[in-house]
Amino acid sequence: MLRFENKVVIVTGGTRGIGLETVRAFCEQGAHVILFGSKRETVLNALQILKNENKVAQGYCPNLSDFEEVANTIKRIYADYGRVDILINNAGISASKRIEETTVSDFENIMDINVKAIFNTSKAVVPYMKKQHAGVILNTSSMVSIYGQPSGAIYPASKCAVNGITKSLARELAPFNIRVNAVAPGIINTDMVSSLPKEMIEPLVKTIPLGRIGEPRDIANAFLFLASDMASYITGVILSVDGAARN
Ligand code: NAD
Repeated sequence: MLRFENKVVIVTGGTRGIGLETVRAFCEQGAHVILFGSKRETVLNALQILKNENKVAQGYCPNLSDFEEVANTIKRIYADYGRVDILINNAGISASKRIEETTVSDFENIMDINVKAIFNTSKAVVPYMKKQHAGVILNTSSMVSIYGQPSGAIYPASKCAVNGITKSLARELAPFNIRVNAVAPGIINTDMVSSLPKEMIEPLVKTIPLGRIGEPRDIANAFLFLASDMASYITGVILSVDGAARN
């Protein structure tokens, strides 16, 4: 039931971290995976990593905050494969600056990648999914959309918006057999976390009841489940994958 033979899956931010692991997971289950990254070099690097693991994927680097670029890329994918089954909106940027240090351009960058990009990719795939009368859109939220965080208000705000898009599109698109869900990761072992100060991470890890930070595969597995037919009656859900962490 978790196999995805010939399914066409797009993963944004698929060049590293949770996104690259998600690309791996879907490749292993037989899907045609197309990853999006921010730069040509990082896309090529990710494709080489996958090739070294005997996995085949395709890659593009549309500017996710530019609707025309995103729509043209998705049009091309649809022309190549004749369908788009699963869209995984994973690209995201974080910030933990205090409000006085957060600039207007920080605010705009975070909203562009974490929120506007999801609007753009979803708007671009929905006509194809409606035509197929089938599709799955999965978004990446965060634990902090539920609990907030002590410093860096814009990132949780952006992830609250992700939850809003998820729940609303789930209701709007259910009549077309398109399911929309989100995964809300806790603290996951990726560059995003290793770039945060140790003083911020170590005390958080001590509070995680499962006693460890999460691995990218923990999130990829949740995406596999939510994208699969096993989740065919699940839509509009924000699934916490956080070891019961509460920050
Ligand atoms: P990461 O920094 O390792 O990877 C982020 C990905 O987003 C990269 O592939 C990068 O290319 C892409 N990206 C960043 N800016 C982009 C841009 N301008 N245009 C296109 N792509 C861009 O991060 P990660 O930890 O793997 O995070 C993936 C997702 O999970 C993000 O949405 C993040 O908010 C969310 N998340 C992560 C954690 C965590 O602890 N790591 C926790 C909660 C939520």
